[in-house]
Amino acid sequence: MKEESPIKTLCPYCGVGCGLEVVPSQGKVPWQVRGDRAHPSSQGMVCVKGATVAESIGKDRLLYPMWRESLDQDFRRISWDEALEKLCDRICTVLAAQGPDGICMYGSGQFVTEDYYTAQKLIKGCLGTNNFDANSRLCMSSAVSGYVQSFGADGPPCCYDDLEQTDCAFIVGSNMAECHPIAFNRLRKYHKKTPHARLIVVDPRRTQTAEAADLHLPIRPGTDIDLFNGIAYLLMRDGFEQSEFIQQHTSGFADYAEVLRHYAPEIVSDRCGISIADLETAARWWGESGRVLSLWSMGLNQSSEGTAKVRSLINLHLLTGQIGKPGAGPFSLTGQPNAMGGREAGGLSHLLPGYRFVANPQHRAEVEQAWGLPPGRISPNPGRTVWDMIRGLEAGEVGLFWIAATNPAVSLPDLVRVKAAMRRSPFTIYQEAYFPTETAEFAHLLLPATQWSEKSGTMTNSERYVTLARSFQPPPGEAKADWEIFCEVGRHLGFEQQFPFQTSAEVHAEFVQFTHGRPCDMSGISHDRLQQEGALQWPESRDQESGIRGQEESGGWGLGLGVEVQEEALQMDRDLSPAPCNLPPGAKRLYTDLQFHTPDGRARFGAVHSRGLAEPPDPDFPLVLTTGRLYGHWHTQTRTGRTEKITQMHPNPFLEIHPRDAEPLGIGEGDLVEVRSRRGWARFPAKVTKAIAPGTVFVPMHWGTLWADNAEANALTHPESCPDSKQPELKACAVQLVPVQAEIAVREELGVMG
Ligand code: SF4
Repeated sequence: MKEESPIKTLCPYCGVGCGLEVVPSQGKVPWQVRGDRAHPSSQGMVCVKGATVAESIGKDRLLYPMWRESLDQDFRRISWDEALEKLCDRICTVLAAQGPDGICMYGSGQFVTEDYYTAQKLIKGCLGTNNFDANSRLCMSSAVSGYVQSFGADGPPCCYDDLEQTDCAFIVGSNMAECHPIAFNRLRKYHKKTPHARLIVVDPRRTQTAEAADLHLPIRPGTDIDLFNGIAYLLMRDGFEQSEFIQQHTSGFADYAEVLRHYAPEIVSDRCGISIADLETAARWWGESGRVLSLWSMGLNQSSEGTAKVRSLINLHLLTGQIGKPGAGPFSLTGQPNAMGGREAGGLSHLLPGYRFVANPQHRAEVEQAWGLPPGRISPNPGRTVWDMIRGLEAGEVGLFWIAATNPAVSLPDLVRVKAAMRRSPFTIYQEAYFPTETAEFAHLLLPATQWSEKSGTMTNSERYVTLARSFQPPPGEAKADWEIFCEVGRHLGFEQQFPFQTSAEVHAEFVQFTHGRPCDMSGISHDRLQQEGALQWPESRDQESGIRGQEESGGWGLGLGVEVQEEALQMDRDLSPAPCNLPPGAKRLYTDLQFHTPDGRARFGAVHSRGLAEPPDPDFPLVLTTGRLYGHWHTQTRTGRTEKITQMHPNPFLEIHPRDAEPLGIGEGDLVEVRSRRGWARFPAKVTKAIAPGTVFVPMHWGTLWADNAEANALTHPESCPDSKQPELKACAVQLVPVQAEIAVREELGVMG
């Protein structure tokens, strides 16, 4: 029997962005999913999450709008009309009583770009507050600010082909084998068959990624900048710096060189806890390699000095001219499937669509005019980040908290404080595909959202490929696409002109006009082209690709035209206003012309010393807890906790501890251990292993209260964040351990139980 033509779509889990093919099945799950061999990023490969995605789609769905007056009541079903009425009434009440900044929305890298774009138009444009933030804040905002500060614009400059063309891959702060498995497969295959290619992995844990390395540097948590500066010191000592490149294409070298004087190998080896020989080997391999590719994810980004870490890594590329050529460059691996699309659509509290910034008056004016809004409607002030939203709830400054497609009651740091703040919220809307989740407990109004397979929209992966995720089955119950909900609310509030869209293709067509002439130019991409040609990589401009005249010339959107801009203000904000993209459409790599988006076209060295951990260990809390992810699970398990194969693979949370730390505490394999920080506690069975560096313990972050008792990693973490990116330091906090048996014995002795 001839097989039906497969439906082409993409995996909705991680930022690798693998192409999928879906065919109907007669089995227990009505859809069979496999890798799409024609997809340029994944070439037919797929990991367990992508392969099993269809299993969770029909389980535990939120089918109807639900409402309750207060958190101690049960939800009752209401109609969409009633839900919209309640929501819009509340918006009007908050606008009147507190002004636009009393409204906050917290969205998600699970959004398609069309969801992101309509949310920006509603919140930042129509309602006039920049209080939109996304869970990408927890994931890669340090990469964004690092790229912007070093290159003048966001955007990973590399592509996955570089994984197969490099002479030296330097992976830091990323368990790529488990968290970006298909991109890692491409690297591992190449590494195995290419004897001269070297793989260096920097991680306090001996992860699966580290197992594959030629050199593993198990540095102490928080010493990344010391390591990068120490490598730079040795590169300079041994004459590996590229003076011509530095002179012609960079700025700030003198200050950087001054900083490096303080990073002699003896000092760095001592701070990082690695041998001088290993440090020298890493520097020599970097210096001798013709093409060096660095890769990182949360291990650098989730830090109170995340931006400085990213810049210090980029410095190594600038020092040695390792950018703008095949097999080389600093490559941030995005965590969420559409974290990139969120950046392009302006989906953080300081951004506007098309890599624009709310602080830039020209950018605001361009967007206001294009959206048909009066001048001055968009606030010049960056909005609240998600942590500022929590603080706003604590202070009674937030009158409406709207959460969509994310689960902050598990994923935010310092959960005891977060939950207390969310309990204080006078009106929380939770727009989600599943019920229950941990966050639903804190909501007044639940709005049922469609998800993968039920809505169409685009996502951009780490290497800038845009893929169309297609709808191929009807939504369950009364669920609606997130972008549809935002449009309906906008129209209900009187913004019919701003929300005329009937399809996500129409939303996308409007959005891409904001990218025209910008560094992330994708104005030549449309739903039609994606359906016909498959995934397309930006930059992809309509002018050069299709010959259609720019809207500026044809008098359409007029982005950047007819707007009076104060020269003085522009000068002040020039650093935030990157130059247009000069690369040819479809360029696989950025900066091949070595022209950066800074005013002088030069990439900037960042001269920074490490400040170390925000909460270093001390006698009371002597160990550093680091958190991370496992191969099969995705974030807070909203989908993967409902997928049998994955729950069998990773049934329980655990604590990794080195025997040297376990022994004096009397902790043996499998013993239940209470982990305490200054903010909370959690309990995990111990895994005693030499795979973790002494002084450091590890727990996975996937388990909220729905899936295990008292095993929340984020009950322990703290909210201190990077001053530039505002990304919290989810990767490190100081803890003490108490074996639970010992704890019970002490309590019994004191006569205190419970
Ligand atoms: S690597 Fe990421 S995108 Fe690819 S199948 Fe796995 S989870 Fe999905």
